[in-house]
Amino acid sequence: MARPLRAWRELVKNLFRKHVTGQYPHTKPVIDKNYRAKILFDANKCIGCNICVRNCPADAIKIIQVNQDEKPTEVDGKTIPAKRKFKCVIDLAKCVYCGQCTDGCPVKALSSSQDFELAHFNREALIDEMKHPYETESKKK
Ligand code: SF4
Ligand code: SF4
Repeated sequence: MARPLRAWRELVKNLFRKHVTGQYPHTKPVIDKNYRAKILFDANKCIGCNICVRNCPADAIKIIQVNQDEKPTEVDGKTIPAKRKFKCVIDLAKCVYCGQCTDGCPVKALSSSQDFELAHFNREALIDEMKHPYETESKKK
């Protein structure tokens, strides 16, 4: 007889306890600033060294030059080659969010964000193409 009574006591007690589970997705969890989720790319900083590509254990990241066709400019009789510009393509389905690419980047062009909501029905949508503003501009023309 003692057991059902104990169970009832436990049940009533738990009815008034504070919830310990999160009500996601209705309430968003607080994510630690060191959490590694979606990788961000700053095209203005990238120097195209490809260290991130070599460091990636999942073969998930590519750095692509976007202005191969840009002509050198002439300034005071000197030929100045076009500054190389790059975009970054990450396959979010392959990425294991290890942070090796962000840690190894010599100019801090890559960083981890806290954006973890990356699920999608379509694998193609997980190819994250972070374009250089230059490329976006030239496609508008
Ligand atoms: S976080 Fe890791 S797996 Fe993802 S792109 Fe960077 S190095 Fe590759
Ligand atoms: S390591 Fe950094 S600078 Fe080098 S290619 Fe990758 S993003 Fe660009």
